[in-house]
Amino acid sequence: MLVMCVIIDATAVLREKSSLQEELQRSLYATASAVAESYDEMYPGDYRLVQLGGGYVSLYKGDIELTEQYAFLDHLREKSGMHISLFFKDARILTTLQDEEGNRYAGSAINAAVSSQMERKQIPLYYEVEIMGELYYACYIPLWNSDGALTGMVATALTSAEIKKEAAQASWPILVITLLGLLTASIISIRYTSRIVNAINQIHHFLAGMVGGNLSNTMPDTVLKRKDEIGQTGGDIVRMQNAVRVLVECDPLTTLYNRRYGNAKLKNMQRRSAKTGAPFAIAIADIDFFKKVNDTYGHDAGDEVLKFVAGELKELMGGRGHAVRWGGEEFLLIFEDMELINAGAALEEYIDRLHGLSVTYGQHTLRVTMTIGLVEGSPKSELEDLIKQADEKLYYGKEHGRDQLVVTMDGAQPCYRMLLVFQQDEKRGNTMITFSDEILDSENPMQLFAEIAMREAEQEALEDEEEDAKPADKKKEKDTKEKKDE
Ligand code: GH3
Ligand code: MG
Ligand code: MG
Repeated sequence: MLVMCVIIDATAVLREKSSLQEELQRSLYATASAVAESYDEMYPGDYRLVQLGGGYVSLYKGDIELTEQYAFLDHLREKSGMHISLFFKDARILTTLQDEEGNRYAGSAINAAVSSQMERKQIPLYYEVEIMGELYYACYIPLWNSDGALTGMVATALTSAEIKKEAAQASWPILVITLLGLLTASIISIRYTSRIVNAINQIHHFLAGMVGGNLSNTMPDTVLKRKDEIGQTGGDIVRMQNAVRVLVECDPLTTLYNRRYGNAKLKNMQRRSAKTGAPFAIAIADIDFFKKVNDTYGHDAGDEVLKFVAGELKELMGGRGHAVRWGGEEFLLIFEDMELINAGAALEEYIDRLHGLSVTYGQHTLRVTMTIGLVEGSPKSELEDLIKQADEKLYYGKEHGRDQLVVTMDGAQPCYRMLLVFQQDEKRGNTMITFSDEILDSENPMQLFAEIAMREAEQEALEDEEEDAKPADKKKEKDTKEKKDE
């Protein structure tokens, strides 16, 4: 742009200069011609030099003596601003050029180059000449006598300094306007291009993140809100990211996270928990007797059940963490920032909820139950170990009647273990491990455990004391009853 502007500027200035020169030449020529024609008009006849006494000569035109007749030339000089000289042969006879004291430069010789050019060409000539130490731009037109012989010249001139000043005055506006134009265009173009470059850099950064495996980067709004191709490209890349994320992170049948992404989520959560101390829990949930669904109703029916279970798990984990298809009909559930007790309560509710639901496949209504092993996460334990523990609990549940939640208890929480309520499912003889409502509703379950444990221990001690005080046969009867209960 800068180069272009300089070229435009230079061309404009040169054009301006040449048109100024043409204009100048025209007006110099017009004034010189006016002088020559006016003399012809006013004083008919030829120019001639008349010898006066004492070696002096005087210029005549026809019968009229022109020497020292300056009224006409001075008047023209005043009107046009130009200096006017009349040459006879090579001698300046009449002139408006004066020195500081008012003495005219009459009698000086013409510039030799002008004289010889005029001799040869006899046409108007334009020259830059030096007169008495000052530069002038002058127009010389030839004067002829009636016999056609070149007899002299009329010259009109302006000082070069004046011309330059005028030219400079004419060029300044062009220069200033083009420079202002350049400045404005530069500012606009720099701002515009820097925004484009920024947006491209942001896209580049985003793509580099994707290549490095980061699929959760967000494209900045400054890119997406653009109405041009860059904004469109940004939108396309975000759509591509989503598609890639689904491919990489999700299981196509259930649309739950796949095992690979589940592992990454687990690692993230453990790292975060190590940093913040936030609790977490993980569970492995497996559909009971799923093979039977496949065998009885076909693989498609099995797929429908998987999709149904996935939907329910998604709902269960919404706001609590993530559901992952761990493999086949097995799911990993990650409870983020959640105590084991709360995760357990949510899973108990889920198992109950499943009892009331069914999957419709063609004319068949399929009921689904699940067995779940739940463990408390720890920033220190190996994730593989945690999953193994959850798996062990799951298989324990499978071996002990299915359709249940099995919770692991950590040795560090003895009160917790004491306060679990073991409920007997009388219909199937299964052991359901649930929490009492008092604990589930409590804001500080651990403290409540301790209080209840204390209360129960005291109660037991009281009962023992009472027992000791009773007669021997009644005591025996009670012991027998206790053995039976156990
Ligand atoms: P259990 O209660 O002990 O878990 O018994 P189960 O029948 O559920 O478990 P098992 O491991 O015997 O059978 C799991 C079946 O799940 C076997 C396999 O064919 C089926 N399966 C695994 N992936 C899919 C799938 O994507 N679609 C369908 N329809 N079936 C699948
Ligand atoms: Mg199963
Ligand atoms: Mg299984």
